[in-house]
Amino acid sequence: MQIIKNIEEMQAFRSEMRGSVGFVPTMGALHRGHLSLIRRAREENDHVVVSIFVNPTQFLPGEDFERYPRREEADRNICERAGVDVLFVPEAASVYHDDEVTLKAPPYLGYVLEGHRRPGHFDGVVQVVMKLFNLVRPTRAYFGKKDAQQLCILQKMVEDLFVPVEIVPVDTVREEDGLALSSRNVYLSPEERTRALGVSRSLKRASRLVMAGELDTETIKVAMRETMREIDTIEYIEIVDRGFRPLKRVEIGNTIILVAVKVGRTRLIDNLWI
Ligand code: AMP
Repeated sequence: MQIIKNIEEMQAFRSEMRGSVGFVPTMGALHRGHLSLIRRAREENDHVVVSIFVNPTQFLPGEDFERYPRREEADRNICERAGVDVLFVPEAASVYHDDEVTLKAPPYLGYVLEGHRRPGHFDGVVQVVMKLFNLVRPTRAYFGKKDAQQLCILQKMVEDLFVPVEIVPVDTVREEDGLALSSRNVYLSPEERTRALGVSRSLKRASRLVMAGELDTETIKVAMRETMREIDTIEYIEIVDRGFRPLKRVEIGNTIILVAVKVGRTRLIDNLWI
């Protein structure tokens, strides 16, 4: 496996690559969720590039940028074992320039729900992903459905800007008890972790209700809120279509149920695609 820290080296290495390139952008502290993206990329492409970059521009002031978990050596071993060809680990100073051209997330999709709670977050995401796409020039790029809004915004970015990359959505990987894997789960104390299970349980409850024929979104949200009684703060429970417009009734095949909560100091998101 080639480890590349330098932008010019990445560009030179890429220009020598023949065949398809699968790309998995991450912020590191890799877990089985990331691994499922990497495996999928490995199956579907001649080459696999993984990037690790804790992107400063997608963190808001007061968020966890400084304490975000960083595990370079463990990440390197995971990538090596998974058959990654290139691990790209650029420095922030070389990724960003002074007074640079900036992209903006879509005015609606980039500023509701996560974008409303974290204004500007998705501007940082589209900016860095576009830069990474231009450096890696992937055939396919793999993103988790766990970050549903990010996935939909990036899908829209490649459509709107005619970027020749196929975005591949990958299902959320969970612990056996239902907790969605996240690099931020390490912040949870054992007691908080137990309470955090309310999130996946509420989504399971929603899924059962829909399967039983309950399509009224208010009724589903009330039931979900009840299941999350032990959660400190429910930031939102929302049931939207694929364009993130709120729905009165669930539309099978076009619905995402989204939850954002805080357990202790830790912010968690999860969702269910119906
Ligand atoms: P991150 O390192 O958190 O920026 O995540 C990098 C990629 O991994 C994103 O596309 C995430 O959506 C995806 N990802 C994170 N957690 C999971 C999970 N539990 N299952 C599947 N994909 C995930």
